Amino acid sequence: MSLPVVAIVGRPNVGKSTLFNRIAGERIAIVEDQPGITRDRIYSKGEWSGRSFHLIDTGGLEFGGDDEMVEYVRQQAELAIEEADVILFVVDGRTGVTATDEEVARHLRRSRKPVVLAVNKLDHQNHHKHAYEFYQLGIGEPIPVSSLHGTGTGDLLDEVVQKLPDSTVEAYDPDTIRVSIIGRPNVGKSSLVNRILGEERVIVSPVAGTTRDAVDTPFTHEGQDYVIVDTAGMRKRGKVYESTEKYSVLRALKAIERSDVVLVVLDASQGVTEQDKRVAGIAHEGGRGAIFVVNKWDAVEKDHQTMQRFVREIRDAFSFMDYAPILFISAKTGQRVSRVVPVVKEVADQHSTRISTSVLNQVLQDAALSTPPPTVKGRRPKIQYGTQVSVKPPVFVLFVSDPDAIHFSYRRYLDNQLREAFGFVGTPIRILFRKKR
Ligand code: GDP
Ligand code: GDP
Repeated sequence: MSLPVVAIVGRPNVGKSTLFNRIAGERIAIVEDQPGITRDRIYSKGEWSGRSFHLIDTGGLEFGGDDEMVEYVRQQAELAIEEADVILFVVDGRTGVTATDEEVARHLRRSRKPVVLAVNKLDHQNHHKHAYEFYQLGIGEPIPVSSLHGTGTGDLLDEVVQKLPDSTVEAYDPDTIRVSIIGRPNVGKSSLVNRILGEERVIVSPVAGTTRDAVDTPFTHEGQDYVIVDTAGMRKRGKVYESTEKYSVLRALKAIERSDVVLVVLDASQGVTEQDKRVAGIAHEGGRGAIFVVNKWDAVEKDHQTMQRFVREIRDAFSFMDYAPILFISAKTGQRVSRVVPVVKEVADQHSTRISTSVLNQVLQDAALSTPPPTVKGRRPKIQYGTQVSVKPPVFVLFVSDPDAIHFSYRRYLDNQLREAFGFVGTPIRILFRKKR
């Protein structure tokens, strides 16, 4: 199931990011707590009345070149119209309606996307009448809010949630392996898709007349069904897409949400960038299987150490994803592209592995015997038993006498022991400590 997207648009200084932080609330702080993961303050998850959604502050996106205001806001709106399910249009209740507001409103009206209009900076009840003026934008009822004080935001979110589409149910059979291909513009994502689909043993399924999403590409390889999600998005070209790198983070977010295995494509001729870390971090946090695909290997001048150097660079940059295999390919020449699908299959299998409780406990017992949990404040926690509670990714609950006394280094140790015993190539695993009741 994929989460709907709510995008905040509006002129600079109307209070978009203040509103964003209000809605996103404490989540941001929680997410930023994870070491090694770069985070922007431009997207987060929001939740209201039991509905969850992605929240994007398009004001935080950098658009190249043109910094004229109308153009700037127009590009934001365009992106939001393209990508969002609901648009949250923020205006400044103190300045009244401006020409830019009218321009954006015109654009939004034409799109027929659901729009919620927030008239911000109305900090006091007796200012609320200033909201009426914004009826003239022709996009429905203006809702007075103060992002600064948090007043009115509840009514605003009621309105947003009401306009969210019904949650979309995934159209694919659970045995179908869903793959997304993510990475910065120009790393070679669409070239790779074309190569994979052109392979001899790959049979591309006809799409017509099924419930399948037309933006995806289903195919079969050695009897296994796969689907590349959001193939259309990968191939899309346009002004906005070319001009903002951060756009691809947004696109990646949605694709990752819908996939089992993520191919993080890197450009061998450029090395690792911050943005690569960002999208890989999303895959990791989302609990997806992951493979690093170093593309354009043909364009690199190589000696016998080049590959090792690359491996080291990747392991350093993505230290939180040391489980992900690395493939060196060329979508241009086809070199090693035939390895991609088999590795996807392997990772998907590991991602959905279920370990029997008895085997798991044998491994845990051996692990605790060879290295017992260190004592914390004079107490030595004891692991009583463990069980796997879910797959995709594998999650283990370990019952211990004193969950708070488990040191993070011991968690790391157990993680390594489980990987040594069971592999889990390409998949994150989660270990939760619980007190036995
Ligand atoms: P953005 O450029 O649209 O993201 O706007 P910001 O969120 O950065 O806010 C611009 C300025 O407006 C900041 O100084 C905020 O403190 C202020 N501001 C934002 N929301 C409110 C509000 O509800 N009331 C008042 N009085 N000021 C606000
Ligand atoms: P996308 O934006 O990530 O989908 O990237 P494209 O697939 O459109 O490729 C961007 C550019 O890189 C195009 O000019 C491709 O021809 C080129 N390209 C893609 N793969 C390779 C490769 O393996 N080697 C080389 N030398 N160029 C490549």
